[in-house]
Amino acid sequence: MTAPNTLFEVENERELPKPVSVPATLFADIVFDRPLDHAYTYAVPESLTAKIGVGKRVEVPFGKGGKGTAGFCVRVTDVQPTSGYEIKTVTRVLDDDAIVDEHLMKLTRWMADYYLCGWGQVLHAVVPAGVRDNAGTRVASFVEPLPKEKLPNPLPTVTPQQKAALDKLKKENRPLEVLQLARLAKCTTGVVAGLIKKGLVRKFSERIETPAAMPDAETEDQSTSAPHVEIALNADQLRVWEPLKNALETGGYHPFLLHGVTGSGKTEVYLRAIEEVVKQGKEVIVLVPEISLTPQTISRFKGRCGNLAVLHSHLTDAERGGYWRRVATGHIQVVVGARSAVFAPTRKLGLIVIDEEHENSFKQESTPRYHARDVAVMRARLEGIPILMGSATPSLESWANAERGNYTVLSMPNRVASRPLPAVKLVDLRHEPKTPGKHYAIGPTLESAMRKTLKEKGQIILLLNRRGFSTHVHCEACGHVAQCAHCDLAMTFHRTKNSLMCHYCGFETAPFQKCPACSQLAMRYQGLGTEKLQVEIEEKFPGNVCQRMDSDTMSKPGSHQRVLDAFRDGLIQILVGTQMIAKGLDFPNVTLVGVVNADVGLHLPDFRSAERTFQLLAQVAGRAGRGEKGGQVLVQTFTPDHPCITLASHHNYGEFAKLELVHRKQHKYPPYERLARLIVRSEKEEAAATFADTLAGTFKEAMKRATTAQGHTPVRLLGPAECPVFRLNNFYRFHFQIQSDSSAVLHEVLRNVLTLAKPPSGVEFQVDIDPYSML
Ligand code: ADP
Ligand code: ZN
Repeated sequence: MTAPNTLFEVENERELPKPVSVPATLFADIVFDRPLDHAYTYAVPESLTAKIGVGKRVEVPFGKGGKGTAGFCVRVTDVQPTSGYEIKTVTRVLDDDAIVDEHLMKLTRWMADYYLCGWGQVLHAVVPAGVRDNAGTRVASFVEPLPKEKLPNPLPTVTPQQKAALDKLKKENRPLEVLQLARLAKCTTGVVAGLIKKGLVRKFSERIETPAAMPDAETEDQSTSAPHVEIALNADQLRVWEPLKNALETGGYHPFLLHGVTGSGKTEVYLRAIEEVVKQGKEVIVLVPEISLTPQTISRFKGRCGNLAVLHSHLTDAERGGYWRRVATGHIQVVVGARSAVFAPTRKLGLIVIDEEHENSFKQESTPRYHARDVAVMRARLEGIPILMGSATPSLESWANAERGNYTVLSMPNRVASRPLPAVKLVDLRHEPKTPGKHYAIGPTLESAMRKTLKEKGQIILLLNRRGFSTHVHCEACGHVAQCAHCDLAMTFHRTKNSLMCHYCGFETAPFQKCPACSQLAMRYQGLGTEKLQVEIEEKFPGNVCQRMDSDTMSKPGSHQRVLDAFRDGLIQILVGTQMIAKGLDFPNVTLVGVVNADVGLHLPDFRSAERTFQLLAQVAGRAGRGEKGGQVLVQTFTPDHPCITLASHHNYGEFAKLELVHRKQHKYPPYERLARLIVRSEKEEAAATFADTLAGTFKEAMKRATTAQGHTPVRLLGPAECPVFRLNNFYRFHFQIQSDSSAVLHEVLRNVLTLAKPPSGVEFQVDIDPYSML
C-alpha cells in the first residue's frame, strides 16, 4: 500500500488476477481504517461461517505481504464475486457480537459519502478504542455444575476437598469463576481443575468487565438519587411542549429548533421531553458542548432520566468501552456527551437533544471531519425519531433550515419568572479617557461599575477571549515580530510559564529581550491576554479574589468545577476568562458582566466572524441578572456601530439573523451555497505550490465530468491561494474553496477530483465539507 496521503486509493493497487484459492460458500466485504472508497471481498472459511456477521471486526490479510489487518465486515453474501481477482480468506472473526448495529452502519456509510472519506475510517473513529481492544474486560474461566444426565457413569470418586468444592458450587446454583469457587471452598484451583478433569463440572470462558470499565459514580439509578421537585411549566414552555409532546407520541422524524433566550427554561423543556421518552421505554442522546459536562448541568439530568451515562473527555478507554457496552445492552436510558456521543449504540433511540446547537465545537477538525449536529439530524432521519436542537443564538444554518420549513421553530422569547434580560451598555473605547503612561484594559466606565458592584456585594464576570499575558511580542528597533518556528503565527508570552507559546502547534521557547533579527535590546511585550488582565484587576481591586478561567488554568480534570463551586460559594468576587466563562453558567449573584474587548475575533478572515461575535456577546450577556437582583452588561468596543455588536446589545437575534443572511446570500456563502475546502500541504513549499497548480487543472476536468451539474449554476472554484495561515506546523498550505448551490454537484466534482488527483509523495490533501475553520 502507498502511504494514505490520497483520499481514495483506486483499484490499481491490487495484485494480478489469480484463481480463487479457497472453496467457500460465503463472502464478506471488509473495510479498513484507510482512505479507501470501496470494500474488499474475502472468502469466509467453513469454520467461520457461523461467526461472521455485519458489524463485527475481522482479521484478514491485507496489502503488500498480506499482513494481518483488522477491518469491519460491512456485508455478507453467498454470491461469489466475478472480478477474477485472487480472493483471500478471513483469518479470524474478532467479535462475538456485532459492535456496530444496522442503524450505525447506515449512518457511518452516509458519513463516508458525505464527508468523502473511507467507510472504514468512519467506523474506526466511531467505535471507541476501548471497545475495539476490549479495554476494561477480561476473559474469565467459569465452572458450573452439570445436570444429572450429563454426569459420567459410573460416578468417579472424589477427594473430600473436591466434594466440598462441588457442594459449594451446587449450593450457589450459578456459574462461578474458578478462582471465586476456590476462594469460597477454601481450596486451591487445582482442586477445581480435578473436578473439571473428572467431568463433574463444566468449564467455560466468557468475557467480563473489570471494575476499570465501571465509572459507577456517573451511572446513577433513579431510586438512589434525591427526589426532585416537580417544576410546573410556564406559559411559554407549555406552548412549545405541545407540538413536541405530539411528535414524541406519534414518533417519526421531526426536527425542532428551540429558540429561547438565555434563562428562558430550555433545559427544563429538554428534561420534560427526556422523561417522556424514557417513560416510553426508549433511549435519548443529549449532545452538549464539552464545557457543559460539569456536575452543575449533569445534576439536573440525574434523577429525572433513568440510568445516565456521562461521556466526558476525561474517561479512560476502559470506562468509555464500559459505557458503550452498557448502552448497547440496554442498561442506559440517557447518554449525555460532547460530539462523539452522537454515535452511542442505543437500541431503541427515541429522541436526540442538542443543547447550544450553534457551538462550533460540534465540528470535528480531523478525519472524519463531521459536524455532530448534522450527523445527529441524519441519524434522527434514518431512525425516524424527533430531534430537538436548542439555542439562544441558533446557527444561521439551522435558522435558514427553519425558514425553509425544514425545521419547526419553537420560540421562548422571555426569561422565566418574567425576569428581564440585562441592560447592555456599549462603551466606546475610542472616547474613553486614558490614564497617562498606562495601558489599562479596563477603562474608567467599566472600572467604576466594577467598584459599585463589589461595594454592593455582587459578583463580576469579565470576558476576554484571548489567553496569555502579552499577545504581541516585537522589536521596536527593526519591527521583527516573535513568530513560531513552525507556523506563520505570532507567539504569545505566558508569564506564569515564563515562555513564548504558539497557540496553534504548542511550540514553546524562552522569552528574550535581544531581538534575534537586529540584536538590539528592544523587544517589547504588548497586547492583552487574560493573564495580564488578571494582574491589572488584582492591582486595581486589592482585597478581592480574582480567578482566571482559561485553558491554561483549567487543564486538570475537575478544576473547572472547583472554581465554579468557589464562585457560587462567594469565595471569588471576579471571574475572568475566555469564552469558557460565557457558556451556560447560572449564578444569581452575578450582577455585572464586562466584555473587555468585543472586537477580538471580529476581523478574522472568516465569513462567520460576525456570527461568532454576536453569539459570544449574547451568551456572555446571558450570564448577568439571572437572580432577583437583576444585572447589567458593559461591552467595551472600538466598533460600537458594527451591527453584530449593536444588535447583541439589544438582544435582537432575529434582526441580526435577517441582516447577516442577506449578507451571506449576496456573497453566496453558507447557508445559501454549499461550501467545501480543499487544502494541499507539504513541508516543501515548492512541492505544495506545484501540486496546487496541477489540481486547478484537475478541477476543470472533474467539473467537465460531473453529470449532475445540468440545470445548476456551475461549481465555483476559488484558488489555489495561500491559506490565511500559510505555514502551520511546518506544512506550507494552499487551499481551494469550492461552492455550489447543489450538494450533489459539489460532491460529484470533489469525488472526481479525488479519483483523478495523484499527489506526489510528500504532498497531501484534505477535504473539508461544510468547513468551520477557514485558516
Ligand atoms: P436555559 O436553559 O434556557 O438557559 P434553564 O432551563 O436553565 O434555562 O432555566 C433557568 C432557570 O429557571 C433554572 O434555574 C430553572 O430551574 C428555572 N426554571 C425553568 N423553568 C421554570 C419554571 N417553569 N418555573 C420556575 N423555574 C423555572
Ligand atoms: Zn506553531
